[in-house]
Amino acid sequence: MMRQFELVELVKSYDPKADEGALNRAYVYSMKAHGAQLRASGDPYFSHPVEVAGLLAQMKLDTASIITGLLHDTVEDTVATLDDIEKLFGPDIGRLVDGVTKLSRIELQSDHTQQAENFRKLVLAMSEDIRVLLVKLADRLHNMQTLRFIKDPEKRRRIARETMDIYAPLAERIGMHRMKDQLEDLAFAELYPDARASIIARLGFLREKGGDIVSRIIGELSQTLKAGGLAANVSGREKSPYSIWRKMERKNVSFEQLADVMAFRVLVDGIGECYHALGIIHSTYHVVPGRFKDYISTPKPNNYRSVHTGVIGPERQRIEMQIRTRDMHEVAELGVAAHWIFKQQAGSVDGRQYRWLRELLDILEQASNPEEFLEHTKLEMFQDQVFAFTPKGDLIALPRGATPVDFAYAVHSQIGDTCVGAKINGRLLPLRTELANGDQVDIVTSKAQTPSPTWERFVVTGKARARIRRFVRTQQRAQYLDLGRAIVQKAFRQQGQGFSERPLEAVLGQFHCATVEDLYVAVGEGLATGREVTNAAFPLPPEARSKVIPLARARKKGRPNGIAVPIRGLIPGMALHFAGCCHPLPGDRIVGIVTTGKGVTIHTIDCDTLESFAAEPERWLDVAWSSEEADAAHVGRINVTIANEPGNLGSLTTTIGKQGGNISNLKITNRSTDFFEIMVDIQVEDVKQLSTIIAALRATPVINSVERARG
Ligand code: MN
Repeated sequence: MMRQFELVELVKSYDPKADEGALNRAYVYSMKAHGAQLRASGDPYFSHPVEVAGLLAQMKLDTASIITGLLHDTVEDTVATLDDIEKLFGPDIGRLVDGVTKLSRIELQSDHTQQAENFRKLVLAMSEDIRVLLVKLADRLHNMQTLRFIKDPEKRRRIARETMDIYAPLAERIGMHRMKDQLEDLAFAELYPDARASIIARLGFLREKGGDIVSRIIGELSQTLKAGGLAANVSGREKSPYSIWRKMERKNVSFEQLADVMAFRVLVDGIGECYHALGIIHSTYHVVPGRFKDYISTPKPNNYRSVHTGVIGPERQRIEMQIRTRDMHEVAELGVAAHWIFKQQAGSVDGRQYRWLRELLDILEQASNPEEFLEHTKLEMFQDQVFAFTPKGDLIALPRGATPVDFAYAVHSQIGDTCVGAKINGRLLPLRTELANGDQVDIVTSKAQTPSPTWERFVVTGKARARIRRFVRTQQRAQYLDLGRAIVQKAFRQQGQGFSERPLEAVLGQFHCATVEDLYVAVGEGLATGREVTNAAFPLPPEARSKVIPLARARKKGRPNGIAVPIRGLIPGMALHFAGCCHPLPGDRIVGIVTTGKGVTIHTIDCDTLESFAAEPERWLDVAWSSEEADAAHVGRINVTIANEPGNLGSLTTTIGKQGGNISNLKITNRSTDFFEIMVDIQVEDVKQLSTIIAALRATPVINSVERARG
C-alpha cells in the first residue's frame, strides 16, 4: 500500500502547486473513517481508496480528483456524511464525492433494471463533471485487479460483465486507451479463462517458433527509418489476448490465419515527420490494402490522432503500424486525463463539451425507461466508426452500418424527423443505404414528413432509434386513446347508462391509472375491457357481478415494454414462429413477416429469405426483442469445417460445452477425405453467447472455419 508521503510526493512531482495540506487531511480522514474494516482480500479496507488515489496520481490528475479518490467510499461505507466532507474539504470535493457515491449505492445489485438505472446516473453525474468518471474508472480498475478475492463466482462474473459492457467502452470514449486495455483484459480473464489461456498458449508457441521476432522487426524498422533520414522511436508488442479474441469474433479467421498479431508504433516529433515516416514505410514495404487510416487529418471523436497502416513487414509478416507524434501519443494513452498534464487546468470539466456525452443525454431524454436507454446506448459504444460529411464539410462520426436517417438525426433531431431522402455524393439514394467512409451526405427534408416506424428496422444509432420510438409511442397512444374511449362509451350504452367521465374518475385507482385518458389507453391496449370498467363504475349486486381480471398483474408482466409477448411490436395473441432458415437470437436485428392464418415468422434482418418478400412491404412487421426474452433458450445454427482427424469432433463439442452452449442437433452435411462440413444447432441465450462460442471455436486449432447460418 502506498504511504501518505509517497502519495503526496508523487502528486508534487507533476503538480508542484498541489495543496499538500488537503491531501494529508484527506488521507488521514479516510484512514480514520474506514478504521478496522477489511476487504475481501483480508487487507485493511483503507488500502483500496489509497490505491485508487494512487492510480489517479499516475494519470497525473488534479488534487481534487485524488482527494475524491481517497474519500470515495467514506460516505457509503462509514459513518461520515456528505455534510462532514463538504465542511472539511469544500463544496467542490463534496459534489465529486456525492457523484461517485450515488453510483456505488446501486452498483452491486444484479437486477437488469438496476444496472440500467446505474448507467443513467453515471451519465448524468459525468456530464456535470467528467472527473466523476475518472475516479469511477480508477475505482473499477482497482476492484478488477483484486477481483479474484471475491468468493462468489456469480458476483465476480457480474462485475466483469459490467466492466466489459460499460466501463471499458466509456474509457475508450474519453480516449483513455491504457485504462480500457487494462479493464478489458482483466474482465476477459474472468469471463473467458479457457479462451484466454488457449490464445496465450498459441502466442507462446509462435514466439518459440519465430524466435524474438518482435525485436528483430523493431531493429529493421528503425534502420529503415534512419536510412531515410528520420529520427524515430520504434516500439512493438504482441496484441493483447482480448484484442486477438475480438478479431476472431468479428472475422471468420482461425488463429493460423490471424496474421497480424503484432503491432508496432513509430513516435516522431512533428506532424510533418509522421507523413515522412509513412512515406518511407510505404516505399519500402508492400502495403496491405484497406488498412490505411489517417486519424491525423480526421481525428476520432475522442481526440485520438494517429496514422494507421498495414504492411508486409521485414520478416514477410503482416504487421500493423501506428505513426504519431509524442504529444499525440500522450493523448492516445491517457485521453481526457492528458488535459490536466498539458494545461494544468483548474476547476471542474463540464462533460457536455463531449459530443458523444451530449448525445447520451439526448437519448436519455427520449427513452421511456432506463432499460431502453441502456439498450439504445450499450451496443452502440462498441461499434466501429464511419465518417461522413455535411455539404458544408462538417464531419459527422457514426457507428458502422449507419444510414442517412442516422446521419440526419446526428445533425439535428428536426432534420431527422422530417427527412425524406438523401443525396450521397450527389446521387439520390434510398434512406436505408449504408454510408461509407468519406461520403458527403445532403439530406432532403419535407415539412410534411414524420418519423416512420419502418426506419427503426435499419437505423443503428441510439439517438435515431430513441426519437423514432418516441414518436411511434405518442402516435400509438393517441390511437389507443380514441379506441379506448369508443369502447368505454359503448359499454356505458350497453349498461343503459348515460356517458360521463365522473364515474370513471372514481375508479381510476382500481385500474392503476392516473387520469381518465390513461384509462382509455389501457382499454384501447386491451389491458382492461369496457365491461370491467363499467362493472367497476356501476357495481352490481354480488350475484350479478362478472369476474374482474386484476389489471395490476397484466400490467406488471407487460411493462416496461408494453405487451407480454417476447417480441415487441406484435399484436397480443398473434401466433409467433422463429424462422428455420436464419434462427434469430435475442440481440439480432429482426423483422416479422405476416402470413395470413399462420401468424408471424421472425427473421434476422440480413436473412436471404427476406428477398422473396421484398415486393410485399405490407407483410413486413417492425419488431424488436423485449428484455424478458433474454432469459429463454433459443436455437442458433452454425456451419463448421473441421479437418477429418481423430478427436476433432470431440474438441468441437467440448469447446461448445465449455462456453455454456447446449448442442440440440448436429449433422454432417459434407464429407471429404480431408474435411468435414458440419451443421450444429446450439441452444443459447442470445446472439452474444453464440458469437462467444463462434470465437472460441475459431481459437481452436483443429477448426478451419466457423460461420453462422444465414438463410
Ligand atoms: Mn471503491
